[in-house]
Amino acid sequence: MGASVSKARIDVKVVRLASMAPQAAPLLAGQDWPSVIPALYFARPKPDISSAMSRTRPFGPAFDRLRAARLRPTRQRLALARLLFEGGDRHVSAEQLHGEASAANVRVSLATVYNTLHHFTALGMLREVVVEPGRSYFDTNTADHHHFFCEVTSKLQDIPGRDVVVSGYPLPPQGTEICRVDVVIRIRPENS
Ligand SMILES: [Zn+2]
Repeated sequence: MGASVSKARIDVKVVRLASMAPQAAPLLAGQDWPSVIPALYFARPKPDISSAMSRTRPFGPAFDRLRAARLRPTRQRLALARLLFEGGDRHVSAEQLHGEASAANVRVSLATVYNTLHHFTALGMLREVVVEPGRSYFDTNTADHHHFFCEVTSKLQDIPGRDVVVSGYPLPPQGTEICRVDVVIRIRPENS
């Protein structure tokens, strides 16, 4: 078995591993598999309802997000990822997330929240939406879309990507190419 193993074959192996008893995993993980396998597969420890790890539900969607991004699920990363990703799509500022972490008794500094958000963004887990210089929100919806931004309430609302047509792009500076166009339509309540 080596690099010539087809992707379909690899997928089958991952499914089979996931359904096997945890104690069988180290034996199989030690086999001569293509190097991609260990990143896709995690040996899950036996459940222990008395442990602190079980109380934090480590194997939820947040854990899966970190695993998919190949990020080590540290306690702080996992706690922030749970706040970010386990409540549906949302736009959140670093300050808001820091406040939510404090309310949930997660001890984390604002600087760490900033760093984690930028780290997640660099890995494609979040999108940063800059609404004005020095002020941005982090968007858990990374699909193609644009935004309404209310200048009075500071609320961001999604606009489906297909609903905005941008034409007449300027030429990008020499040596660069356009990778994405983000449209922020600024709004305010009528008669405000
Ligand atoms: Zn959005």
